Amino acid sequence: MSANTEEKRTGASADSASAAETMGFQAEVGRLLDIVANALYSEREIFLRELISNAADACDKLRYLAIETPSLADGDAGYAITVRVDKGARTLTIADNGVGMNREDLVENLGTIARSGTSAFVDHLTGDKKKDVSLIGQFGVGFYSAFMVADKVTVTTRKAGEESGWRWESDGKSAFTVEPAEGAARGAAVTLHLKEDADEFLERPRLERVIKTYSDHIPFPIKLVEATADDAEETPEAEQVNSASALWTRPKSEIDDQQYTEFYKHVSHSFDEPWMTLHFRAEGVIEYTGLIFVPTERPFDLFHPDRMSKVKLYVKRVFITDECDELLPSWLRFLRGVIDSEDLPLNISREMLQNNPVVAKIRAGLVKRVVGDLAKKAENAPEEYAKFWENFGLVLKEGLYESAADRESLFKLCRFRSTKADGLVSLEEYVGRMKDGQTAIYYIAGEDAEKLKKSPQLEGFEKKGVEVLLMTDPVDEFWIPAVGDYQGHAFKSVTRGGADLAEIKADAKDEDTPDEAKSEESESAVDGLVVALKLQLGEAVKDVRVSDRLTSSPVCLVADDSGLDIHLERMLRQHKQLDQASPRILEINPDHALVKALAAKAGADGKGDIGEAAALLYDQALIVEGEQPSDPAAFARRLSEVMAKSLG
Ligand code: ADP
Ligand code: MG
Repeated sequence: MSANTEEKRTGASADSASAAETMGFQAEVGRLLDIVANALYSEREIFLRELISNAADACDKLRYLAIETPSLADGDAGYAITVRVDKGARTLTIADNGVGMNREDLVENLGTIARSGTSAFVDHLTGDKKKDVSLIGQFGVGFYSAFMVADKVTVTTRKAGEESGWRWESDGKSAFTVEPAEGAARGAAVTLHLKEDADEFLERPRLERVIKTYSDHIPFPIKLVEATADDAEETPEAEQVNSASALWTRPKSEIDDQQYTEFYKHVSHSFDEPWMTLHFRAEGVIEYTGLIFVPTERPFDLFHPDRMSKVKLYVKRVFITDECDELLPSWLRFLRGVIDSEDLPLNISREMLQNNPVVAKIRAGLVKRVVGDLAKKAENAPEEYAKFWENFGLVLKEGLYESAADRESLFKLCRFRSTKADGLVSLEEYVGRMKDGQTAIYYIAGEDAEKLKKSPQLEGFEKKGVEVLLMTDPVDEFWIPAVGDYQGHAFKSVTRGGADLAEIKADAKDEDTPDEAKSEESESAVDGLVVALKLQLGEAVKDVRVSDRLTSSPVCLVADDSGLDIHLERMLRQHKQLDQASPRILEINPDHALVKALAAKAGADGKGDIGEAAALLYDQALIVEGEQPSDPAAFARRLSEVMAKSLG
């Protein structure tokens, strides 16, 4: 989406190159600015962090581009950020000599919702001012946060390598103007015309504190200068406020949690806290430093179709790219942070990063380290780990089928809900609890764990005390068939194939009635009913058979051993990848009173009259499965008839 240029174009001489053009903000930006500009937000000093963060990104970008095209930095490669205070004019300017913006960049970046954080902010707006204000900290509003303290913002900028400069200006209401700016310096200068109540940001000690707190880690010098009141000339000695060394190069012992958090917010463009921080140096054949974070919240682009790693790659402290998808497998795409390599050449192009042996080694080392640290956390802090798993487990599980080599170590990280526990269960725990005679790991797949727990197919397992894992992530349908087994134990859906329950011995405490309850006798007593049901249901079912997985329900549906699991088939149908449900197997419970009564009616040869029972039983099984009877009207009619009979 781009700003509304055509309709809002004003000015008598729109054709003249020097005219200021007025453009409307994209509607979403308008809503955002309305909250931001009128917010009574207590931490509004974060505007400075956002503007300095943007300035640093701009310097990083140009430093990279200038490796290949040195002329872009036209003699001024001393990248720095200047914060200039002018008490007389009541302005604060954040200037950088980075990559800058041209006209299109300005309109696109400062007129629309171009980034995920701000769009999430807008998506969460409720209309309740108080609630909406709290979203500023939660999702962040980047550049637009300037309007918390300023009633007018001017951006003067020139893009590296281009001749003309541009001035963008807005009062943060509904529109902004863009006009050419003669003699603009390379980079961008963002000038805030401070609001009446924002005088504190003209005070040097206050600014120093804010910069130290939020931006100390910025690897470019941040200089604070003050214009004198009368002649607006700068004091000669600009003072550098930050340490200006890349945070990841500093010893761990010298970095506190808040510095890590601020750095995380800067590199990730996120506004939560890191859930886990890994700061390490790999030495040996390949040398690199990593400062890697696991976020607390899911990043908004977690399910973006490109599924790309967002970790930034630096070479000897120079930013190279944040789009190197070879640096991490896509199932670790939730990680944020920096890798700084000593071994790659500075002038490496993004294409050269593909199939690069150094990158491949870094990736392998990184995977090992991250997976290892997660395993430790899972072991030592299971409750905290559970939160991580809720957010990112479904992404990690992609690794089970994408990276066979990492499968064993990933299995150690996997957690599941189960019929036996309130919390999460590991596969190791599951296997440790398997019953005598049980060889498979049983699971049931569906959307909702609570609904799944009530599935009739679980009854026989419940009775024998056999634990069943509840698989509720769509990705489960992909890794399970791909992995086959865990330490020799096959994964087996309880809604597919035979239940094999006869082989499994229940503990005495789990079994209320002895196993022989389902005697051959009771099974053969329903033989006639099986024949009758097959005859009446015809093509609708693949087979009718006596169940050993049912204890309290009369019937259930299962898929054939060679067929698709019921849940997977439903998913495929929902995504229109499959037209029709394939016929299922109807299982009947020979010990259920209804089934026994029907069997008596059907007789040994199955020729007795069982009325509409076949269709009703089948539709009932469908409904329990969460599906519609194939002919709902016929179902309702049959049900009414049966009810009328029983009442009459
Ligand atoms: P983000 O930094 O998360 O992308 P912002 O709202 O902070 O979002 O900034 C929006 C965009 O505006 C940036 O992505 C960048 O393209 C552009 N931008 C902002 N400040 C500068 C700057 N000082 N120099 C160059 N481009 C900038
Ligand atoms: Mg930003």
